[in-house]
Amino acid sequence: MKKTFVTLDQLREITQEYPTPFHLYHEKGIRENIRQLKKAFAWNEGFKEYFAVKATPNPAILQILKEEAAGVDCSSLTELMLADLVGFSGQEIMFASNVTPEEDFILARKLNATIILDDITDIDYLEKVAGIPETIGCRYNPGGLFVINNEIMDTPNEAKYGFTREQLTEGFKRLQHKGVKHFGLHAFLASNTVANEYYPNLAKVLFETAVELKNETGAHIEFIDLSGGIGIPYHPEQQPADIFDVGERVRTVYEKVLIPAGMGDVKLYTELGRFMLGPYGCLVATAIHEKHIHKEYIGLDACAANLMRPAMYGAYHHITVMGKENEPYHHKYDITGGLCENNDKFAIDRMLPKIDIGDLLVIHDTGAHGFAMGYNYNGKLRSAEVLLKEDGSFELIRRAETPADYFATFDVINSFVSKLF
Ligand SMILES: *Cc1c(COP(=O)(O)O)cnc(C)c1O
Repeated sequence: MKKTFVTLDQLREITQEYPTPFHLYHEKGIRENIRQLKKAFAWNEGFKEYFAVKATPNPAILQILKEEAAGVDCSSLTELMLADLVGFSGQEIMFASNVTPEEDFILARKLNATIILDDITDIDYLEKVAGIPETIGCRYNPGGLFVINNEIMDTPNEAKYGFTREQLTEGFKRLQHKGVKHFGLHAFLASNTVANEYYPNLAKVLFETAVELKNETGAHIEFIDLSGGIGIPYHPEQQPADIFDVGERVRTVYEKVLIPAGMGDVKLYTELGRFMLGPYGCLVATAIHEKHIHKEYIGLDACAANLMRPAMYGAYHHITVMGKENEPYHHKYDITGGLCENNDKFAIDRMLPKIDIGDLLVIHDTGAHGFAMGYNYNGKLRSAEVLLKEDGSFELIRRAETPADYFATFDVINSFVSKLF
């Protein structure tokens, strides 16, 4: 059974100050996890995790990761601004975007971020808008299917990202002409994979390609970026990835492919988002409605606007009814939000203890791609974010939106907004 990182007593204390719904983050879990990751890859001298900001774009969370010596992986202007505000700079910022607007590249260059180009046409475009740096990375898309143990993990041939293999050679040569001295290679071929084999398989593809590129172009490959993609066990029956096993297997491939090629100085980077934060956040909501029609429904004060994954991907998120962990799971419910969309369901046909109005529900594993994917459909407001600190105290790290926030962008219609506020 999945356990919550927060107790009912703690939640009662928090909800006295900050009403539900809110996303709650677990500082201790976040810190312990990144320390494990760093240990698992400590064999590589240049190893660095660049946390994918899009997963949890909150400065308090980024600050914790910064204290643990992580960098950040940004993909837009505002993510770069956020990184800058938290105090990340230069080598601590990776910029891996696609379909990139001019101002994004300009800011990335100004912050001296390491840029990963998504497309061969980005070379001339970047040169024109912001200039080519001495160190740059290219994102690789090998096409085809990405298969591990005869199982299709994902479909790179359908993915919009990256250079083809031929474009990499061509791109490296063009970049060398434009003064690039140090290269990086990046790929993201499968998402949310708990299989320990994902990184080692990806590493093999990238390492072999790096050796080829070095032989073809003479380029100095400074880093290889394994990007994101390590998954988390959303379902209680899934096993988490064993990060030490992953690290050791990547090491084996490194020693087999890169070291014999005289490339034992290549730094390994990761841009994990889900693995870093997913299990260390949850959405806390209150049961505010029950409905008995053709099925049994429990309605929450949270909705898909606070957590989109179930509606968008049919994703499983485990649910704990706080204080009833040991009661029999005899009731079959659909747990819903209040959007006028029938896919606004956190769970369908879920066996749970009997839920009463006012019960606190914890929706697990929302620490990454949870709050971040929120939206304002149906005029629903984004929730607060609260940090449960290592000493057991808690801190509001983002207030809940108010109607004034919702109406703020109508400030162009002065008469309208001044009537309201
Ligand atoms: C989304 C993304 C990540 C993080 O992915 P996770 O699945 O959260 O680990 C890393 N790098 C890039 C370029 C991404 O787009």
